[in-house]
Amino acid sequence: LGSRIAGALRSMSAKTVMDEETLDEALKEIARALLEADVNVKQVSLLRRNIKAAVRWSELPPGANKRRIVQKAVFDELCRMLDPGEPPLSPERQRANVVMFVGLQGNGKTTTCVKVAYYYKRRGYRTCLVCADTFRAGAFDQLRQNAAKVRVPFYGSYESTDAVQVARDGVEMFRQQAMEVIVVDTSGRHKQEAALFEEMAQLEAAVQPDHIVFVMDGSMGQAAYDQALAFRQRVRVGSVILTKMDGHARGGGALSAVAATHAPVVFLGTGEHMDELEAFRVESFVGRLLGMGDVQGLVKTITESNLQNPDEEQMQRLSQGVFTLRDMQLMYGNLTRLGPLSQVMSMMPGMAEMIPQGSDRETQARIQRIMVMLDSLTAAELDQTPSIKWDESRKRRIARGSGRSLAEVEEVLAQYRTVSKVWGRMGKNMKNMAHGMPAG
Ligand code: GDP
Ligand code: MG
Repeated sequence: LGSRIAGALRSMSAKTVMDEETLDEALKEIARALLEADVNVKQVSLLRRNIKAAVRWSELPPGANKRRIVQKAVFDELCRMLDPGEPPLSPERQRANVVMFVGLQGNGKTTTCVKVAYYYKRRGYRTCLVCADTFRAGAFDQLRQNAAKVRVPFYGSYESTDAVQVARDGVEMFRQQAMEVIVVDTSGRHKQEAALFEEMAQLEAAVQPDHIVFVMDGSMGQAAYDQALAFRQRVRVGSVILTKMDGHARGGGALSAVAATHAPVVFLGTGEHMDELEAFRVESFVGRLLGMGDVQGLVKTITESNLQNPDEEQMQRLSQGVFTLRDMQLMYGNLTRLGPLSQVMSMMPGMAEMIPQGSDRETQARIQRIMVMLDSLTAAELDQTPSIKWDESRKRRIARGSGRSLAEVEEVLAQYRTVSKVWGRMGKNMKNMAHGMPAG
């Protein structure tokens, strides 16, 4: 998506005459890219209209950087659409916050309940889980086992088929125990949707949740809007969590869910493990959607993984937008340990262009070759201290040392320059991300 939008903007600025038609063409291409990313049809046309209104083409002064203005308008508009202006889930300490989860079966609701309980547990909340899915065989065991894994107290019943009663009993019991976050998992059977929605409404009335979270598979596609709307019409959805964002999700589902529920996205599920939950940040998400990278996200991922004990200095430098060849070497070395390759790469500005799309195995092989080349660099070259001059003889030495051709060495250096340039812009602009956006 990011590269297509970038492409649309590039072809726009390549035009000698920049008239309204040029803008329309670019917007058409951007709209196509958004549709492909599963953004809802209605939202795409709304987006297009709003961008046009925001850009005010005819009033732009002759010297204005039109490509940049359009890009900023796209960024801002996507951010605006993802922010419904409602407060997200944020449990208060020292009182019972009952959080009920709703969503269709298979979307990752039970997994997400446990992830969220674990998330708040790690932040010092007294957290627990209630299984109000009395419909699906095995629901009880699934939640019980996962709750045990993360050591969160759990309530449920093997025998009962009365979800409302079980939920009421569980919530009551945990209230007595002065729990702070009481997560209620519910059934999500399809095929009998009328009965499901009726049950959700009854549960809402019975346990009086402080907050309702709608869970949806992030790769839902164009069906996302209707599904989210169906839940919103029956229960008071307050937040959205998108799951399976580690897979083929293209991001558009987030916009659909927010538009349908008028509720903000709070987390993204990024894997099957209980700690694979990412707090949602609008600017980072849109930046990634548009292929602009997410410097803060990457720095945070590296810090959290605590790989090769990244030092303060490196983190400081990276977050200020200074990216050296040594950073590139470190990152390639750690790439597979940071998480799924595609996910980490999408956080790195310019990286998608550097490592062409392919299977993880092809990507590995390509990274291996680059690593061998980087191993032939001296410390001064890696840190570029003092400022290194990349003359012919230096490049030849590296080619010889790594058994690659001169052209390949030049390619890696060129790619490094691209990444470090984008990185520099990202770093500088990160602070002002909410107001402006990086050039490029
Ligand atoms: P429910 O029916 O809505 O309660 O869904 P479950 O929690 O049982 O999840 C259905 C399947 O999706 C399970 O195999 C989960 O492991 C998987 N799953 C849930 N969340 C994620 C996620 O964020 N990423 C991936 N890859 N799988 C997930
Ligand atoms: Mg379930």
